[in-house]
Amino acid sequence: MAYPRSLVAGNWKMNGLSASIAELHALETMIATGEPANCDVMLCPPYTLLSVFASEANKVIIGAQDCHINDGGAHTGDISAAMIKDCGASHIIVGHSERRADHGESSGLIAQKASKVIEMGMKPIICVGETEAERDAGQTLNVVLDQVKASIPAIAKADEVIIAYEPVWAIGTGRTPTPEDVQDVHGAIRTTLLEIFGDAGETVAILYGGSVKPSNAAELMTVPNVNGALVGGASLKASDFNGIIDAYRK
Ligand code: PEP
Repeated sequence: MAYPRSLVAGNWKMNGLSASIAELHALETMIATGEPANCDVMLCPPYTLLSVFASEANKVIIGAQDCHINDGGAHTGDISAAMIKDCGASHIIVGHSERRADHGESSGLIAQKASKVIEMGMKPIICVGETEAERDAGQTLNVVLDQVKASIPAIAKADEVIIAYEPVWAIGTGRTPTPEDVQDVHGAIRTTLLEIFGDAGETVAILYGGSVKPSNAAELMTVPNVNGALVGGASLKASDFNGIIDAYRK
């Protein structure tokens, strides 16, 4: 059974203009000329930059940040997985906590989105994570494991999904869980993946996200069952993001 290939993915959120292509070019150069990294590298720019990033990317995988559950139709302002695939992206983040909070997205809806992503031949990065109140109430594992079970679509095979554990209270705050806490949650997610997929659950990448930066990446990325990072703020500048990728260089 293959161990998951680690992935360092950058989520640009609602950031980036056409001039931001310079950051992709800089990152490509750093990857091409630096010490080889034992991980895949991905950027998820906003929809407006997907096509240009996908056509300019060489070593960097390009993903999107969300999609609609339908293929097309009367859904003003929405983007379908088919449109994203047509732009050249191969992955789509679904269920980011900002979508869950700002747009009231439920795990059931996220499972439908993930199902559509898989149907289109792409891979969903399914985000889960507890709020600070849920953590303080001792509910972290209940919340996270319920989200994992309800957000993975029934049709999914183990090699068709990626999970990202992102404690909501750690996103954009500079705060991170201790490595021991990360190990507990990732270990519990792994156990749940083994229940869902059988032995193949061992091969699903589980990313950690929430205030990952160059100074803490090496410690977080060596925690058992952490197979990479989902990075927000520190992915916007190629030099910072490359400092996180360093965690996968010798
Ligand atoms: C995120 O929003 O996915 C994220 C991890 O953000 P940050 O790295 O800025 O905490």
